[in-house]
Amino acid sequence: MTDHSANDDAADDVATRLAKVKARVRDALRRAGRPDDDATIVAVSKRQPAEAVQAAYLAGQRHFGESYVQEALPKLERLESLGAEWHFIGRIQSNKTRSIAERFDWVHTLERPGIAHRLGSQRPAYAPPLNVLLQVSLAGESQKGGVRPEELRALADAVLGEPRLSLRGLMTIPPADLDTDSARRYFAQLQTLFRELADGGYELDTLSMGMSADFELALEQGSNCVRVGTAIFGARD
Ligand SMILES: *Cc1c(COP(=O)(O)O)cnc(C)c1O
Repeated sequence: MTDHSANDDAADDVATRLAKVKARVRDALRRAGRPDDDATIVAVSKRQPAEAVQAAYLAGQRHFGESYVQEALPKLERLESLGAEWHFIGRIQSNKTRSIAERFDWVHTLERPGIAHRLGSQRPAYAPPLNVLLQVSLAGESQKGGVRPEELRALADAVLGEPRLSLRGLMTIPPADLDTDSARRYFAQLQTLFRELADGGYELDTLSMGMSADFELALEQGSNCVRVGTAIFGARD
């Protein structure tokens, strides 16, 4: 036995997988004729221990995503000294908005004007405005979260009305059962909506689409922010 511990092994695994994900993101961007640094990787650390986040940070990762406020708060506290950027990517319950407004740098999952108002009034004065993405649903009833395209502008305007929020872009989670062609079309549709809003005068720079199973497909369709969990950290608890 050496003194190389199980923790070190787990950290090596995270670093190795992260390097592979980075290479795949770079290759997908090159195939699309885009610069190597054209997309942000958000490492989704929900249901992963703080040690795994630390390992990814040591390997150069700076953006992390969490889905459950209750689980995230102690983790963020423990890792505060890292100075990482934290993205909230879970469903937003109205009784949790204060913690999100106080602790996170980004929210990907805004779907209602009332929540925009809560986050805007609860964002502390000492922090920069909270970066906000609107979660869009293009699949109608079959899909859980997200605002319908018809209601998108009203939601965008609600965010613009909050000085403590910064409207940055759109996010989507395609239905889980789509085949490759349907997923490609789905991502393409969101890119079209993104461009329509941008052409309509909204200043947007972030299109958050793609997870472990489909981030290359999403990057082909214009994503510049992928949310990758299991491909970096391995299976969740
Ligand atoms: C869990 C989660 C991810 C990451 O999923 P993986 O398949 O593990 O990459 C991305 N986005 C959202 C919104 C999630 O909830």
